[in-house]
Amino acid sequence: MSRRMLLKGGTVYTGRGDDVIYSGFVEIFDGVIGRVGAVRDLTSTFDGDVVDTTGKTVMPGIIDTHMHVFHEPQMLRLSEGAAALWGANYVQSALRAGVTTMRDLGAQSGAVFGLRKALSEGYVVGPRYLVAGKAICMTGGHGWANLSAEADGEDAIRLLARQQIKLGADVIKVMASGGAGTPGELPTQAQLSMNEIRAAVEVAHDAGKPVAAHALANEGIMRAVEAGVDTIEHGVFLDDRAIELMLKRDVALCPTISVYPRIINRGPAGGESAFVIEKSKPLVAPHIESLRAAVAAGVRIVFGTDATTLYNPVGDFSDEMDLMVKAGMSPVEVMRSATGTAAEICGVSHLVGVLETGKLADVLVVDGDATRNIAALSDTFLVLKDGRSVYGKGDGYRNAALTAEPVLKADLSR
Ligand SMILES: [Zn+2]
Repeated sequence: MSRRMLLKGGTVYTGRGDDVIYSGFVEIFDGVIGRVGAVRDLTSTFDGDVVDTTGKTVMPGIIDTHMHVFHEPQMLRLSEGAAALWGANYVQSALRAGVTTMRDLGAQSGAVFGLRKALSEGYVVGPRYLVAGKAICMTGGHGWANLSAEADGEDAIRLLARQQIKLGADVIKVMASGGAGTPGELPTQAQLSMNEIRAAVEVAHDAGKPVAAHALANEGIMRAVEAGVDTIEHGVFLDDRAIELMLKRDVALCPTISVYPRIINRGPAGGESAFVIEKSKPLVAPHIESLRAAVAAGVRIVFGTDATTLYNPVGDFSDEMDLMVKAGMSPVEVMRSATGTAAEICGVSHLVGVLETGKLADVLVVDGDATRNIAALSDTFLVLKDGRSVYGKGDGYRNAALTAEPVLKADLSR
C-alpha cells in the first residue's frame, strides 16, 4: 500500500546548516522524504494525505546522542528480559515526544543489546536505538557501579572494546575522567592513560565506529582529544588550550548542559544520593562557562541530554535546549545540533538527520515557530518514524516520566 503525505505550510527546518524555509512543504512517499521546498513552488495537486502545518515547525526527528536506558540502580536488579521490556516502553514514550533516534552511552545490563536487536529488527516499534554496551573505565573509574566495565592496560581495553563491538555496539564509550555519579573519584581527576584511550580508539575506528569520551577534567579532555576520540561528553573544565585542540582535530562537544542542574533539582527526595548532589553543585558554573567559550570559538556542538530514566527522562529535553540557547546558541543552531550534526556524529547521516529527498521520513512537527522560540519543540503536534505516525497531538501519554513508576516503586531491600 502506498502511503503518501504532504506536510504543507509553516516553518520547515531541513536539519542542514541554517536552512529554514518559511511557508514550506515536505512530501513523504512510503516512509521516505520526497521533495522539500517552498509552498509557492507547489504546482500540481497532491494525490495523498495533506496535513496543514501552518503555524507549526516541521523538522527532522530529534537525535539524542547521549542517554542511558539502563542506568538506575533499580534497573540493575531486574532480569535482562524484564529490563528490556521496560526499556522498550521507556524509549517508545520518548519517541512520542519526537526523539526518533537515541544513542545509549553506557549500560552494564545485557538488556541493552536485546533492546537494540528487538528495535532494529522491528519486533517492537520504537526509535532508532544505537548503543555503546558497557562503557570502558579504569578500575574504580567513572561508572564502575552502574554504567561501565573496568579494564586496565591497553590489551584489556582492546579486549573489552572488541567484545562490545562483537555484541553489536554502534559506538565505544570511554571514561577519561571522574564525574559526579560514582563514589570514590573526583570530577577533576583524569582517568585512563592516553595509550589506554588510544587502544580503544584504534579498535573502534578499525571497525568504523566512533568513540565518545566522558571527560570533565581538563587533563582527561586533553588526553582523549590527543588519543583521537570523536566527541567529548560533558567537557566541564574546558580551557583555551583544550578548545583550540578540539577545533584543530574537529572533535565535537556534547555538553549535556542540563545534567547537573537536573541532579540537584531531583534532590534527596527524588532518590538522588547526597554525595552525587554535593559533587554536582560546583560543576554547574564552570560547565556553562565552558559551553559558552566553546560555542563562541566555533566548536561543533552536538545534542545529548544524559537522560537517565525516572526523574530525568529522555524525551524531556526542554531544559537542555533552553540552557544551550542561554550559552549563546541560536534556536536554529540548537536544532542543527540535534538533527544534521547529531546524525553525522552517530554515523547515520546517510539515513536520517536532514529533510532531503531519499532520506527516511523521521519527522517532528510542533506547534509554533521553534526557529524563534526553542520552547516550541516541546509542544509536539505529530511524530513520524519511517513515515509512519507514532504520535499525534492528543493521543494519550507523551512523557517518559509516566513510565517510571514501576521502577521507582521497586523494592531495593531485596
Ligand atoms: Zn552519560
